[in-house]
Amino acid sequence: MLPPADTAPEPVPAAAWRRAADGAPLSPVLPPDASLLVLAAHPDDETIGAGRLLADHTGPARCVTLTAGERCHGESADAAQVARTRLREWGAALAVLGAEPVETPRWPDAGLSGHEREAAEALAGWAAGADAILAPWRHDPHPDHEAAGRVGAEVARRAGTPLWSYLVWTPYWMHPEDLAGRGAELLRYPSSERAGVRWREALARHRSQVTAQPPASHPVVPATLLDRHESQLLIRETHAVRA
Ligand SMILES: [Zn+2]
Repeated sequence: MLPPADTAPEPVPAAAWRRAADGAPLSPVLPPDASLLVLAAHPDDETIGAGRLLADHTGPARCVTLTAGERCHGESADAAQVARTRLREWGAALAVLGAEPVETPRWPDAGLSGHEREAAEALAGWAAGADAILAPWRHDPHPDHEAAGRVGAEVARRAGTPLWSYLVWTPYWMHPEDLAGRGAELLRYPSSERAGVRWREALARHRSQVTAQPPASHPVVPATLLDRHESQLLIRETHAVRA
């Protein structure tokens, strides 16, 4: 996940997303025993964007991270060490959410778009046994998230399995009014208070992302992003979009 750069534009106001979330229709609820395959581009995506849904879900939820997120601290950090840390945090967070990490091949952080076909093929077997696939929305504003979203859509299409899209950076960088133009409707998935507690606990396991890692003075995942995920948001695609 990329930190907001000093030169980045200002995030959209949180109030706009609060209003959008409050006004969003409720989504259908997954059957309690549904078997889920959950895709992420980086080891914290599904916790940020789908953690409440996962915390409430009682059926199996198998989670895949398509990269180890090893580039999140920049070129000067030891990528192998960052990968180990992040995968350990991923496992700890998933344990809080009651989800299961699945070992699959992984591709380069910040380079996932060059490996979408291989990723879709590697996940075909897992998708065949799933009742629903969750993936980042294919327009979530990060190149790896867009790639993971396209992989999710392709895997779901081939397996004939419904795709549920979740958001990570969308509520930070994209205005809610821009969703419709991208063929998307915002939905709110009903989630329990307990799921909110678990979601926070799981986020805290991603210590390398939610706390500043010197020499950086800001965490990779700012608190002002997490404030925009105070309810479980999902995307329903309202018309066919280019994969
Ligand atoms: Zn990410």
